[in-house]
Amino acid sequence: ALGSDVDEDMEIDEEIEEDDLLGGLKVETSKEISVPDRLVDQVIGQDHARDIVLKAAKQRRHVMMIGSPGTGKSMLAKAMSQLLPKEELQDVLVYHNPDDGNEPKVRTVPAGKGEQIVEAHKEEARKRNQMRTVIMWIIIALILGYALIIVGQILLGILAAGIIYLAFRYISRGNDAMVPNLLVNTADQQTAPFEDATGAHAGALLGDVRHDPFQSGGMETPSHDRVEPGAIHKANKGVLYIDEINTLDIRSQQKLMTAIQEGEFSITGQSERSSGAMVQTEPVPCDFIMVASGNMDAMENMHPALRSRIKGYGYEVYMDDTIDDTPEMRRKYARFVAQEVEKDGRLPHFTREAMEEIILEAQRRAGRKDHLTLELRNLGGLVRVAGDIARAEGKEYTEREDVLQAKGRSRSIEQQLADEFIERRKDYELTVNEGGAVGRVNGLAVMGEDSGIVLPVMAEIAPSQGPGQVIATGQLKEMAEEAVENVSAIIKKFSDQDISEKDIHIQFVQVGEGGVDGDSASITVATAVISALEEIPVEQNVAMTGSLSVRGDVLPVGGVTHKIEAAAKSGIDKIIIPKANEQDVMIEPEYEEQVEIIPVSHISEVLEVALAGEPEKDSLVDRLKSITGRALEQREVG
Ligand code: ADP
Repeated sequence: ALGSDVDEDMEIDEEIEEDDLLGGLKVETSKEISVPDRLVDQVIGQDHARDIVLKAAKQRRHVMMIGSPGTGKSMLAKAMSQLLPKEELQDVLVYHNPDDGNEPKVRTVPAGKGEQIVEAHKEEARKRNQMRTVIMWIIIALILGYALIIVGQILLGILAAGIIYLAFRYISRGNDAMVPNLLVNTADQQTAPFEDATGAHAGALLGDVRHDPFQSGGMETPSHDRVEPGAIHKANKGVLYIDEINTLDIRSQQKLMTAIQEGEFSITGQSERSSGAMVQTEPVPCDFIMVASGNMDAMENMHPALRSRIKGYGYEVYMDDTIDDTPEMRRKYARFVAQEVEKDGRLPHFTREAMEEIILEAQRRAGRKDHLTLELRNLGGLVRVAGDIARAEGKEYTEREDVLQAKGRSRSIEQQLADEFIERRKDYELTVNEGGAVGRVNGLAVMGEDSGIVLPVMAEIAPSQGPGQVIATGQLKEMAEEAVENVSAIIKKFSDQDISEKDIHIQFVQVGEGGVDGDSASITVATAVISALEEIPVEQNVAMTGSLSVRGDVLPVGGVTHKIEAAAKSGIDKIIIPKANEQDVMIEPEYEEQVEIIPVSHISEVLEVALAGEPEKDSLVDRLKSITGRALEQREVG
């Protein structure tokens, strides 16, 4: 469909093996994969958004795209500009207005005509100037001669000649005013314009009139010459793209709305004190298609009237973050490698094995079983780093080992920080990964977006003076309270201990500076509290992540893959994760042998794995099982 399948002129195996990462594509290198010409055909996934863009281009509708960064929003906007007819393009000229110098006239002409008109005006002005110069010098010579011969007065002659010279200069300046200012020149445009106005200030978006320091006395630049177009004018008959639309100030959003409504917008000086502010041109055409984008937040914060304008006269579309991992898609991802290599222009093409490694990474980054990530800007970054490594070594092709090396290098700041963190904690022996300890549990947390850390939790129980309290430190206090509350409902049923008469101290060992999400630590807190309460040690070669319900069910959390990798790096060998997250595990092969992953659905299973000391533990777990049958039944079935 849409001519974007890789299949068209490529050879594909008849029988596609399920584990063929290139989806049966019969190529040795990415060089053999042909890249489609049109940008819209290069877009991978986002079928919905692509259909909308095709439709909107035909109907000249505005589009609002919501989604994660690097999923192809600006790519689609640009693709849209290539789909618009080029024939409609116009040049815009600004002329001096003899009646009112502060209201320059605006004229539009077909594409390419603008340059010709300006040239013709310049030529005429040049000729006229030449004539005048000749006449001027004749007059000056005559006067000088007359003064010298007849009157004998050199000084008088020079004075008169000077006055005439200045007068001519003045007149010929006036001549410049006749040459129009070519505001928008579309002569060399191959397609309809694409203007990216993301983060543009008012002048760059709406046009501006430069300040003139010499405002009179024949030295000034005529006002029409100081007029500068805004992105809305340059996007005339094309696409105006604005990402993070909500960050545009409200006044600009209002003006943008007017521009969309009217299809034309006068240019005036944007800084109030400048002489440019006195100038206002006749309306300048700005008949563009607006493509706005942002994340969900952007939708909520943008000017409601602007949003309804786009909505009422266009489409809203959501971008996908991942896509089903099918042979067809894998072939497209192989083509993606070829696309990125050709776009860069300097990278060596990829071998088959190198492409396979990229596709493996796309699976891993999806964080979902049988899916591929669509955050393709980042994946493209990996392609470039790998290609650069191969290029630096003078290789003909980028190989698998280059991609593996690149993966190490293209780690995000958070990942690098987390690595550093793990190293430092090893130095101080903050990470305990063997033996048993009462009240101490190795939790797992996510730092930033894509890296995990081991976050040990310690709990201590003390008799309370007044009513019992949960005493936790730092940003995770609320989460700790909630976790304890959930667990206390369970404890009440199986334990003689009344925790409402005790103070529970919870400490997160060495939380780094900010950025740690706590929600997924609630089974950790619960385990630590139960261990402290019953004085049964916790195995320290175990780490865990999971959220806890009041019933004792273990609920899914985010970032399991990163968490598991962090635990493995810290030398931990058993990792408890929520059963519901089992399919999200996409760890690197090197860790697979190092760790045992234990999916659980109930807190009793967590304790069974994590607690040491057989007899006490067994009785505790038995008691727990007996009181919370529901979740256990599920487990036995599943
Ligand atoms: P966004 O505007 O959503 O932040 P971009 O469109 O700027 O992302 O994407 C940046 C680059 O990443 C593109 O130029 C392209 O190389 C690659 N890319 C992103 N999404 C896709 C996609 N769906 N298909 C192919 N390439 C993509």
